[in-house]
Amino acid sequence: MSEVNIVVNGREAGSKSKGCALCGATWGDYHADFLGEDLFFCCDICAAEFMNMMDEAFKHTARHNVDELHIDGNYQLGRNVLLKNGEDRLRFYVKFGPGAVIKEFKITDK
Ligand SMILES: [Zn+2]
Repeated sequence: MSEVNIVVNGREAGSKSKGCALCGATWGDYHADFLGEDLFFCCDICAAEFMNMMDEAFKHTARHNVDELHIDGNYQLGRNVLLKNGEDRLRFYVKFGPGAVIKEFKITDK
């Protein structure tokens, strides 16, 4: 399994020293497995949001794999995400509601 490179608001994320794989925060200590990789999250909510987001994103991709994930935004504004997998690109917008549920999800470019 290749490494998943995650960039949150322009900064590398996904490990304890770099920050939460969804919001970039460096506090907290929650880990979750994603595609065989150990990702760091600030809390279980961010982890649940991330997993829900990727479940939804993978409905629109041929292969369930990620080389790079660029996440820009925050909880209030929602997030614009670019998923790169080899030559494939998927761009989408996602906004969460309370309890890590997806309130809004739309493909913005394919
Ligand atoms: Zn977080």
